[in-house]
Amino acid sequence: MTILNLNTIKTIFKKRPTNSHKGNHGHALIIAGCKSKMGAAIITSKSALRAGAGLVTVNIPKKERLAVFSALPEAMIEFREENNNWDKYNAFAIGPGLGTDKQAERKVAFVVQNIKHPIVFDADALNVLAMKQDWLTKLPQKSILTPHEKEFDRLFGIHFSAEKRQQKAIEKATELNCIIVLKSHKTFITNGKQSFQNTTGNSGLAKGGSGDALTGIITAFLAQDYEPINAAILGVYFHGLAADITLETQSEESMLITDVIDNLGKAFQ
Ligand code: AMP
Ligand code: MG
Repeated sequence: MTILNLNTIKTIFKKRPTNSHKGNHGHALIIAGCKSKMGAAIITSKSALRAGAGLVTVNIPKKERLAVFSALPEAMIEFREENNNWDKYNAFAIGPGLGTDKQAERKVAFVVQNIKHPIVFDADALNVLAMKQDWLTKLPQKSILTPHEKEFDRLFGIHFSAEKRQQKAIEKATELNCIIVLKSHKTFITNGKQSFQNTTGNSGLAKGGSGDALTGIITAFLAQDYEPINAAILGVYFHGLAADITLETQSEESMLITDVIDNLGKAFQ
């Protein structure tokens, strides 16, 4: 297992070319949010924009559109109820605040069956997959699953230690040809062949919304054409580093995920 440090990150991270335009940095689709959880959709999309995606569209229920228009004018919107053309997107995330009702289930089924790009599956999308285990074997290659420990156990059975969970993550990443980001205070990332442990982050992240931000950041790196394993590594590292920088102005108790997102810039610097 490789311990992630700044040197590893420097070998992966590519500087943005001076002559680039938005078309060079990908277009991410974030399928997130439902009536009572629109904050998750906004946090995920905002994080994707702060992590460098050229364009971000968020797929939400039509009734909730005002929330996104007012909180995040940089994002574009499409409506959950409509059949949209997804050819223009090169990176996808599904799950934060999605809910687990029939409509959510249908969206997860649709992306599993129709998308050829790697997809970030998080939160409620993982809960849907836990209930539909046969879909797990049909994920687009090199998709990224980002479970916390409870979501991991719902997917792959109950584990009684971090070591056992990590061992199962390696087995499942190999079997499903995916990347598993097993989130905790020491997040573990594996594609089955190589495994990494993160060193950034603090208990200020132990608060609602933190995982949604991570999903947005990883998706932005996918949109920018990083290999999925590298998108996961960079996402996890910078998410934690931005939280560590936030400690300069907030405490672990007072930190909000919006403060962390606002510090992504300093983390990249
Ligand atoms: P979620 O539970 O989906 O909101 O995800 C929580 C995020 O915050 C993950 O990226 C965790 O790795 C991170 N996190 C939560 N608690 C801590 C902690 N005590 N130290 C470092 N990172 C944490
Ligand atoms: Mg979460």
